[in-house]
Amino acid sequence: MVDEIRLSYSSMKDAGACLKRYWYRVKKPKSAIPNEHMIFGSIVHTSIERLEKKDREIGKLIGWSLHEWERRMASSGRGFLAKLPRPPKSFKRMYENYAELIRPRLQTPAEEDGVEKFFKIKLDYPTLGDNIYFVGKIDRIDNENIYDWKTNGRLPDTYDLHDTQFYAYWWAYRQLFKRNPKEILYGHLNSGSVYNISMDTTLLENFEVLLDNRAETLYNAWKHNEFPRDMGYQCKGCVYRTACYGDLVQEHIEESASEACR
Ligand code: SF4
Repeated sequence: MVDEIRLSYSSMKDAGACLKRYWYRVKKPKSAIPNEHMIFGSIVHTSIERLEKKDREIGKLIGWSLHEWERRMASSGRGFLAKLPRPPKSFKRMYENYAELIRPRLQTPAEEDGVEKFFKIKLDYPTLGDNIYFVGKIDRIDNENIYDWKTNGRLPDTYDLHDTQFYAYWWAYRQLFKRNPKEILYGHLNSGSVYNISMDTTLLENFEVLLDNRAETLYNAWKHNEFPRDMGYQCKGCVYRTACYGDLVQEHIEESASEACR
C-alpha cells in the first residue's frame, strides 16, 4: 500500500541525488541541519511575506530577522558555539532593494492571494494509483507573471537562469490557470535586479519527463519500502548527513549483534 505521495521540486531533486535523502525529507524532516545560506534565505522569504501581507516596517523586520537568525542558528546544532556566526548577507539590503527597486514593479495588491501561492496538483498516472501530487509554492504571482525571490550574493549566471525549478513553476501555473504566465522572473534581492527566464518549451517538456520519472521511481520505492543510500560527493552538501551517518553506524551495530546471536 502506497500512501499519498507529494512531490515537490525540492523532493524531486533529493530523490534524484539519493533516495535515502528523500526518505529523510519525508520521514525525519527535523533531522535536517540547514546551512547558513538556507537559514538566511528562509528568514528573508518569511519577511517579504510579512512585509506584503502584514505591511510591516523594514526596521521591525530587520529586528525580527536578526532575532530569528540567532534562534534558528542556536537550534540547528550550533548552540554550543560561544559566538554564533553573523548572517552571511545583509537583511537590510535585501529588504530595502525589495521595497525600493522590485516592489514598484508589482501591480496586483498582495491581498489577492498572489503572495506565497501554495499549490497541490493531482497527477494523472493510471498505473501508479490516484494519490500522487505535485506540491509547492510560488513566491509571487503578479499580473500573470511568476516571481521567484533569490538571496544569492552573486548575480545569477546562465545556469541559475535555466534552473529546472522555474520550469516546474511554469508547469504548475499552466495546471492551475489553464494558460501560460506572461513572464517568469528571477528577483535578485541582493542587487534589486530582476531577470527574465527564457520560456523555452523544450525545457518545460524536459520537466514533464523528469516529473514522470520521479513519480514512478518514488511509487516503486514506497511500494517496496526501499530507499537505498547513494553515498558519495553528494553527501557533503546533504542536510541529513549527521542523521544518516549516525543511523548507518547504529544499523551496523545491530547487524553485527544479530550475526553474533546466530
Ligand atoms: S548523507 Fe549521503 S547517503 Fe545519506 S541521505 Fe545524504 S546523500 Fe544520501
